[in-house]
Amino acid sequence: MKTRKPEWLRAKLPSSPAYKATHKIVEDNQLHTVCKSAQCPNMGECWSRGTATVMILGNICTRSCRFCAVQTGRPTELDLGEPARVAESIAKMDLKHAVVTSVARDDLKDGGASVWAATIRAIHHRVPECAVEVLTADFRGQQEYLDVVLDACPDIFNHNLETVERLQRPIRKTARYDRSLWVLEHAKSRGFITKSGIMLGIGETDEEIEQVLKDMAAVGVDILTIGQYLQPTQEHQPVDRWVTPEEFQRWKDYALEVGFGVCESGPLVRSSYHADEQSMKFDVRARRMEMLVAQKEA
Ligand code: SF4
Repeated sequence: MKTRKPEWLRAKLPSSPAYKATHKIVEDNQLHTVCKSAQCPNMGECWSRGTATVMILGNICTRSCRFCAVQTGRPTELDLGEPARVAESIAKMDLKHAVVTSVARDDLKDGGASVWAATIRAIHHRVPECAVEVLTADFRGQQEYLDVVLDACPDIFNHNLETVERLQRPIRKTARYDRSLWVLEHAKSRGFITKSGIMLGIGETDEEIEQVLKDMAAVGVDILTIGQYLQPTQEHQPVDRWVTPEEFQRWKDYALEVGFGVCESGPLVRSSYHADEQSMKFDVRARRMEMLVAQKEA
């Protein structure tokens, strides 16, 4: 589709002193962010609010999804100083709610689970009052590695479905719909607040959107994000249509109807967009304390 982006997709330009301060913390601590790597349109707004989503385990992904701008290839060695630097940066940003994501690391036996766990624990230790939301890959469906991450007690566990079942293979060929649902179901069964998201405008039908929302609700997903797919480069999957703000509102209403506790739906919504506000419905810190006490007693 070659039509110009509609007005509602115009995002704020980065200019404020707060934006520059966030940029400096990220640069000084040699961090990667999904904001930059995935060319997120909300950088002007989020970084001016002092929030960035840190991307751990490097900036080269072992998967090559057709929708994603993150560089694909053979990752370099592990950076074992990363967890401490991430925690320090979050302290400097003075975040009350931090979102951390990663590239997929299928080259590592544990998919990077041990680094994930070290990062979560480093943040809990350095900034105990900050809620930690993680957006992870699927660890190829291996429960032992997913459990390594969950044992570190993230406050919110997010894993994205990204799209409807029929479009998984064309745009997300290394992942599997059922496996992603299982990942969410497993995290939920262990008592976590779970979150997932999809993009619209890839070629999905209304019936397919209804189905994916029902499937996620059936495995107990608490928080849902729905946003417009944007084509990062000419080599990526083309945009099929521009979804109107009214339609996004309709899907939000539907999501709440089928059982999600919270749904953020709009053209510029991304997984981490306004994540702090979405979590307010849940007493995440109290839940973490209960889990840590239960772990000690076990
Ligand atoms: S929406 Fe998320 S990825 Fe995009 S700029 Fe904001 S924090 Fe970064």
